[in-house]
Amino acid sequence: HKYVYDFSEGNKDLKDLLGGKGANLAEMTNLGLPVPPGFTITTEACQAYLTTGREPDGLAGQIEKHLESLERAMGKRLGDPQDPLLVSVRSGAKFSMPGMMETVLNVGLNDQSVVGLSAQAGGNDRFAWDSYRRLIQMFGKTVCEVPGEEFEHALDEAKNAKGTSNDLDLDADDLRGLVDAYKKIFVKHTGREFPQQPREQLDLAIRAVFESWNAERAVLYRRQERIPADLGTAVNVVSMVFGNLGPDSGTGVAFTRDPGSGAQGIYGDYLANAQGEDVVAGIRNTVPLQELEQLDKSSYDELLSIMARLEEHYKDLCDIEFTIERGKLWMLQTRVGKRTAAAAFVIAGQLVDEGLIDLDEALHRVNGAQLAQLMFPRFQLDHEFQPVAKGIGASPGAASGTVVFTSARAVELAAEGKSVILVRRETNPDDLNGMIAAKGILTSRGGKTSHAAVVARGMGKTCVSGADEIDVNVPAKRFTVAGQTVNEGDVVSIDGTTGKVYLGEVPVMPSEVVQYFEGSLDPEHIDNALVRAVHRIMTHADGKRRLAVRTNADTGADAARARRFGAEGIGLCRTEHMFLGERRELVERLILARAEGEREAALAALLPLQRADFEEIFREMDGLPVTVRLIDPPLHEFLPPLEQLAVNVAVAQERGEDVAKEEALLAAVRRMHEENPMLGLRGVRLGLVIPGLFAMQVRAIAEAAVSCARGGGVARPEIMVPLVGAVQELETVRAEAEKIIAEVVGDSGVEVLIGTMIEVPRAALTAGQIAEAAEFFSFGTNDLTQMGWGFSRDDVEGAFFWRYLELGIFGISPFESIDRDGVGRLVRIAAEEGRAARPGLKLGVCGEHGGDPDSVHFFHEVGLDYVSCSPFRVPVARLEAGRAVV
Ligand code: PEP
Ligand code: MG
Repeated sequence: HKYVYDFSEGNKDLKDLLGGKGANLAEMTNLGLPVPPGFTITTEACQAYLTTGREPDGLAGQIEKHLESLERAMGKRLGDPQDPLLVSVRSGAKFSMPGMMETVLNVGLNDQSVVGLSAQAGGNDRFAWDSYRRLIQMFGKTVCEVPGEEFEHALDEAKNAKGTSNDLDLDADDLRGLVDAYKKIFVKHTGREFPQQPREQLDLAIRAVFESWNAERAVLYRRQERIPADLGTAVNVVSMVFGNLGPDSGTGVAFTRDPGSGAQGIYGDYLANAQGEDVVAGIRNTVPLQELEQLDKSSYDELLSIMARLEEHYKDLCDIEFTIERGKLWMLQTRVGKRTAAAAFVIAGQLVDEGLIDLDEALHRVNGAQLAQLMFPRFQLDHEFQPVAKGIGASPGAASGTVVFTSARAVELAAEGKSVILVRRETNPDDLNGMIAAKGILTSRGGKTSHAAVVARGMGKTCVSGADEIDVNVPAKRFTVAGQTVNEGDVVSIDGTTGKVYLGEVPVMPSEVVQYFEGSLDPEHIDNALVRAVHRIMTHADGKRRLAVRTNADTGADAARARRFGAEGIGLCRTEHMFLGERRELVERLILARAEGEREAALAALLPLQRADFEEIFREMDGLPVTVRLIDPPLHEFLPPLEQLAVNVAVAQERGEDVAKEEALLAAVRRMHEENPMLGLRGVRLGLVIPGLFAMQVRAIAEAAVSCARGGGVARPEIMVPLVGAVQELETVRAEAEKIIAEVVGDSGVEVLIGTMIEVPRAALTAGQIAEAAEFFSFGTNDLTQMGWGFSRDDVEGAFFWRYLELGIFGISPFESIDRDGVGRLVRIAAEEGRAARPGLKLGVCGEHGGDPDSVHFFHEVGLDYVSCSPFRVPVARLEAGRAVV
């Protein structure tokens, strides 16, 4: 079995096997770009290691063979005392997991070869000893789990002793001393000497990369990003090139376009006389890439031409890591770069203009989650708010919150429901929990490619990085800026688009994308690249999609907004809100009615109110279908809670007041109490048990539609019966409803459909029968999930879902994204059997899943006619419905 590939043997399409980094290094090698020679150990080798706990047979031999050919190509031997070949060992999974896994540089250095390295570098002792101390530090930390702070601490001590805060002020002797100190730390924590055998260093480093796949932070990151847990990582062994050989060397990162806004131009950070991890970790402040032109024009020009070549080749934004070794440029990595939501739309539009991709491909390049992000509000700034600092707008959005300085505190306060801003000098992978909990992240160091920036962008979380006017003091839990002190618990606001930081809570305003959807920004007449790109891509999605998109709305205002957002009807109007507020009393009268006359009176009082509600909605949705669902929740939800009533009655009795009415109410509440109300008297069951209730609603709907038609409008009501499990239930309701409709509608021309929700598993399994009595089905996937899994939708998320997610029983809550295999299968069966019984049966979905990107693709696949979701999700569903086609 082949476990090792030379760079020249791979290509960019082998990401499953070689990981993203390995596949792209191979691609660049084959493009003839200057990539240091090396080889990749496959993800299959990693998977084998992780399942059996040892390296697979044959791996060691293959590594030996590839190492030999690498040594031949470089004319050096690994760790040779006179002229050592050094290699880096880097993880590289199929999906990029920034900073999540391990890298060890300078493998091959030991007490002898450090001398040879110095000689080869022209007697540059400082460089050689610096490289050696980095190896011990990285190897110790990542391979042998020596606490990283110990090394940091020793480094700080060496700098203090020298009276400097700059690594570059340490000379060769200082660094030699530091190597001794590091070795002692190594022995103290591992009980053994730092390994001097180059091949042993290499094998241990490779194994550490394999094992890093299951490190806690990597597991957590994968769960967040929904990356499958069993992919494993590849390992890249690459000959070292050095950016820390002096001022004519350096290292940097670059983007072929601005990953924040999508604008064309040169974007990146450069750090002279440094090794790669210095840039990514944000340890020293970088300079903008443009300054490289002054420092080293020929490398700069070469880099620019390689960047253009890569964009042309990948037809997308690329990000790049490079190193310059004494004036010679080396490409260490490239990949299709991560970008903000805004940049994704803008770049997709630009690439279409440039003729590199077509509009179908542009649709692939964006997604509903990004669109949702762009619909977040932004800060509304007036003179009152002056920024106190400006960093780099690393991940857009507007976030205000309480300042915290540690991950643990962020988690704590977030659990109390507070918005927090995590403030750090720089973040590292150990801060991940805090970053997830925080509303925004603010760091004083690091560029657009620092850990904080990359991870926050991936999470869609607001982040300002490198705000270096801010002096962060984590132990004292405060920072100072512009002469002011901000303590833990104070409120700040950060703008991840502009990079500005404000004290206090800045008010927010709606996003431009929302304004565009609202119709108040005309894409043809404004100079806004984002709005124009969104308009163009949405128009294409609308032209492509087969699924219609409706909305869940039960007020005229919601209906109107959803219509502006592109809703093509209402898929679910929940009528229960119409029983709240001052109408509660009428519901009470209905429930307490003892004689038929009393009940009829209560219903008669409700009728005109309901009719007015429907008239308003039909008016807003003129010409479009409106699915009105008959009342669904258990009626006692409209009564006061039992305990409160019991106390009221007792208190009133004490005072000698007349409590006859309260007592009757209390008795009713007791009578109606249910152990499992979600499985009790609700939905169609209410309609069958309480005479006149559904009839009143049907009459109100029909009368409203007729009145709308008389006023010149077109109402298209669809009456939906909830919680049906047997066709007989539906037939009974239908017979009564049809009579009322016929009577009310007369010759007004109004047409009323009658259909049902499919939200009880039995309904899905007997859909063929139910379709005989239904003109449409709408899948209530909330209840279908609740009853399909037996998960109480109101309780489980907080109670134990975290554990299920942790164990990987599912990767995302089934209430959020449809469970394709189980609940989805019920949908599929019902759709097929329903349509078999009644060709042309109209099918939709109105559970929360209707606005979830993945679920929209599923509903497209099973052939539904429409999805229905909350107004704000309508554009997301339109986009995803288009993406489902291309
Ligand atoms: C559903 O169950 O999916 C549904 C839309 O109804 P509700 O959420 O009101 O129970
Ligand atoms: Mg339901």
